[in-house]
Amino acid sequence: MILTVASGKGGTGKTTLAVSLAQVAARTLPGDVTLLDLDVEAPNAALFLDPEIDERRTSGVPIPEVDADRCDHCGKCVELCRAHALADLGKSEAKRS
Ligand code: SF4
Repeated sequence: MILTVASGKGGTGKTTLAVSLAQVAARTLPGDVTLLDLDVEAPNAALFLDPEIDERRTSGVPIPEVDADRCDHCGKCVELCRAHALADLGKSEAKRS
């Protein structure tokens, strides 16, 4: 069985619900229970469980940098960004002169 708790505004109780479900499943269902906390900003399910941690891995997300000298404000990066995290504000005053 795979159960997913996803989406929702921060502070709505997703982690509390997920941890509670995992604990109930561990006590009532046969086999192992795996809880994966994939919150990219604050994975904190471990705070509720006090787990024995065998391994830690560092991960990251590449952050693109705009080379202002080469950018012609074509807007492709804004168009392609799936997170809608980019905006092209045009050339700065410093670059116009
Ligand atoms: S606006 Fe065009 S040239 Fe500038 S960073 Fe985005 S994709 Fe590159």
